[in-house]
Amino acid sequence: MTASKPHPGDDISATPGGEGEHQALAAEMMRLFIEVAPDSVVVSDDRGRITFINQHAERVFGYARAEVLGRNIDMLLPERFRGAHAEHRAGYYTAPRTRPMGMGLELYALRKDGTEFPVEISLSHARTSEGLRVVAIIRDITERKRLEETLRETQREADRLKDEFIAIAAHELRNPLAALRGFADMLRVQTARGHGPQLAEWQQEAIDAIDQASARLAELTDDLLDVTRLQAGKLELHPALRDLAALARRVVTRQQTTTQRHAITLTADREPLMVNIDEMRFEQVLNNLLHNAMKYSPDGGPITVTLSTDDAAHEVRLCVADRGIGIPAAEQARIFGRFARAENARGIGGTGLGLYLCRELVERHGGRIWFTSQEGAGSTFCLALPLAQEAEPEA
Ligand code: ADP
Repeated sequence: MTASKPHPGDDISATPGGEGEHQALAAEMMRLFIEVAPDSVVVSDDRGRITFINQHAERVFGYARAEVLGRNIDMLLPERFRGAHAEHRAGYYTAPRTRPMGMGLELYALRKDGTEFPVEISLSHARTSEGLRVVAIIRDITERKRLEETLRETQREADRLKDEFIAIAAHELRNPLAALRGFADMLRVQTARGHGPQLAEWQQEAIDAIDQASARLAELTDDLLDVTRLQAGKLELHPALRDLAALARRVVTRQQTTTQRHAITLTADREPLMVNIDEMRFEQVLNNLLHNAMKYSPDGGPITVTLSTDDAAHEVRLCVADRGIGIPAAEQARIFGRFARAENARGIGGTGLGLYLCRELVERHGGRIWFTSQEGAGSTFCLALPLAQEAEPEA
């Protein structure tokens, strides 16, 4: 390699030949590497004045080297970042270290023509004979951001299509399911009325099994439809003044008829307990909590529903407690999520949508829902709702 003409800034003190020439060559190569680096390299001194920019930076920022040398590095930042940047710079000089800049922040750089572009900046420093030099390696991440945005957009579109598919599938399942339940019911009722021959026990059981399975499928499709409605912001509530105690008693009475292994009791410290709720939706919430309490205490046992008022907080609380399998501590944090199911619920049928819907519905009523649970000992699910002002229930 022949020695090239010296450039301003080159270390020309090295004597040709031997160690000196080797050092000069190394310095020259270093300079070339920095010049052709695919990122912008901007060096500044301890007062923030630019002492070097490479060719890439000239091209990206639109300045000729001579236009920036000696000027404050803030000229390469949008106006709104300059105040904070001066402070950060002062901090960096007192404890310089190699690190990415503005971790977790969206950083932008400013071109000569006034346009901005997103950047990622790594900082390092060197102590030279002329004092501290801060080296900023600036990467234009416009393309990466664009790709990320495209990816997010694609993900949103995929989610939308998935929700649309679930909604259509659930909707289409409703009619055949209704027919299935209707015919199972017809067989049972008409046979009981003596229309046609008596059914054998196994036939009766088969009809019951069809009825139960289709009822479960109908519940699942309804839950799926509700979830997609919620996601699309299309689930409408029709709140009215209602007595929560009366509603809970109705639900308890109905659920008690479905089980012989559980004894469901209800206590209320005061009645009526007036709240503003969408009655149908709240029945759904209570049904879900009670159904879970029964389902997840397969050995049976007591289930208590307690209604109480907290006058200071001006709210009504409703708790459903069981002595069932409980929820393992490690899984409790995610149990209100969509499709979340605990490990110990594996052998028990379910979709993991019920609690998600309960939480959404309770929160949309301005309430809260939470639980305490111990694996193997039982769970207590509670919800709190704002107490309505009026004292009398609506007719
Ligand atoms: P599903 O019962 O259909 O699985 P849910 O959303 O109602 O869905 O409940 C989510 C999960 O929370 C259940 O799968 C179960 O692991 C747990 N869980 C809910 N209620 C209880 C309960 N009362 N006792 C024990 N585990 C419960």
